[in-house]
Amino acid sequence: MSQGFLTTVDPATGTELSSYPVMDPRTAHDLLDRAVRAQAEWARADRHDRARMVATLGEALRRDQKSLAELAVAEMGKPIGEAMAEVAKCATACDYYAEHGPAALADEFVDGVGGPGARAWTRYEPLGVLLAVMPWNFPFWQVLRVVAPALVAGNAVLLKHSPNVTGCALALERLFLDAGLAQGLFGALVLAESDVPAVVAELVADDRVAAVTLTGSERAGSAVASAAGAAIKKSVLELGGSDPFVVLDDADLDTVVTRAVASRYLNGGQSCLSAKRFVVHESLAAEFAAALAAATAALVVGDPADPATQIGPLARADLVDTLDAQVRRSVADGARVLVGGAPMDGPGCWYAPTVLAGVTPSMPVMTEETFGPVAAVVAVADDDAAVEVANRTRYGLAASVWSRDTERALRVGARLTSGALFVNAVVASDSRMPFGGVKRSGYGRELGVAGAREFTNLRSIVVG
Ligand code: NAP
Repeated sequence: MSQGFLTTVDPATGTELSSYPVMDPRTAHDLLDRAVRAQAEWARADRHDRARMVATLGEALRRDQKSLAELAVAEMGKPIGEAMAEVAKCATACDYYAEHGPAALADEFVDGVGGPGARAWTRYEPLGVLLAVMPWNFPFWQVLRVVAPALVAGNAVLLKHSPNVTGCALALERLFLDAGLAQGLFGALVLAESDVPAVVAELVADDRVAAVTLTGSERAGSAVASAAGAAIKKSVLELGGSDPFVVLDDADLDTVVTRAVASRYLNGGQSCLSAKRFVVHESLAAEFAAALAAATAALVVGDPADPATQIGPLARADLVDTLDAQVRRSVADGARVLVGGAPMDGPGCWYAPTVLAGVTPSMPVMTEETFGPVAAVVAVADDDAAVEVANRTRYGLAASVWSRDTERALRVGARLTSGALFVNAVVASDSRMPFGGVKRSGYGRELGVAGAREFTNLRSIVVG
């Protein structure tokens, strides 16, 4: 039996925001019961009707865009412009699955199976109740990119969100009910920190949970996927990333620096698919690093509620400590700080946007995921060395390659190991394209047609 509250804190100021009573673990099981009942009825509805409901969710997100965005700003420090864009993106995911979900889930007929006169087809059937364990960095988008396709496919979702965005989780629960979604189809668990591993493991093992998806760290992914493996249950993992941003010697430096800033500092650098390792041909490396440092120094750092702000605080104090330790250890190994390089004074969770040059592949900023505004620039001799350094990571989420010669960039990109390759473009997720990683970045795919089908039972039906 758990007692107590989860208290959210504004990372910009360190002040408390709200306290939420935590659930008794038995309540989590009650929510699961409710989800099972709601899903059974939902699965019987026509998928076009389910799609219409998801379109309504999109409208509700647009209606409440501002209040939702302000909640994300308060709870995790995202600049307001980015928070507004995040909620808008959630609405476009609803639009996408409302429009394309039913076709992605249509029966497919197969000729010639079962003998003369027989009919055969495949059908995408819902799996049941999904458990979604989610992180705080995109507190709405991470949830919607799972929930929109899952609902069209006929599943229900139980959300275990990060505790620092409990307000966002509960706001989504209310929004879905207001939009007309049946009680139980989407529920948010509010668990005491000490209960999380045991309750999540129990739910994963429970026969009433059909599958689990986790976005978060390797540590959490490994724990949840182990529980799913023990229960012989489907899991999807969207884990960390240390994306390389590979600059070849013929790249247009002005464009590349602008895009490097956009890629590294989105969400204060707290994004799985931010470029984190800048692998630059040695003929451009010094100029690139100096220009990136100048552009970084010019970023507007400040109150995330101010529309002019480009970089807000990190979401939690421990994230500042971890990032600072990664930078310090890299500097001790010989990296040079061109700008930033330390936490900022004052209350709240602030780290100065930082560029490190003279980085080598074995430094912590290269071997570990840096979840904050730190760009590491490493010089390489040629394309082969760029490929070798870019691939020297445990992660494989995405990669970008920059060159005036698109074919050359594609050839280099083909040798990189990642779930996504962007050439002369900043890596970003898009509802229309599958998203996911390889290596320690996880497995399974969200978004696109693949995302609509990820949590379905592809059933073969033959009528003789
Ligand atoms: P985290 O600490 O792993 O937390 C993510 C979620 O997992 C939280 O809800 C957390 O709950 C839960 N969790 C942690 N340990 C657990 C356990 N043993 N059993 C069950 N649940 C557990 O990650 P984070 O720091 O919030 O997020 C940052 C990480 O997420 C980064 O590595 C980032 O790259 C990754 N990420 C990946 C993607 C992607 O699409 N690939 C997208 C965004 C973020 P508690 O906090 O209550 O423990």
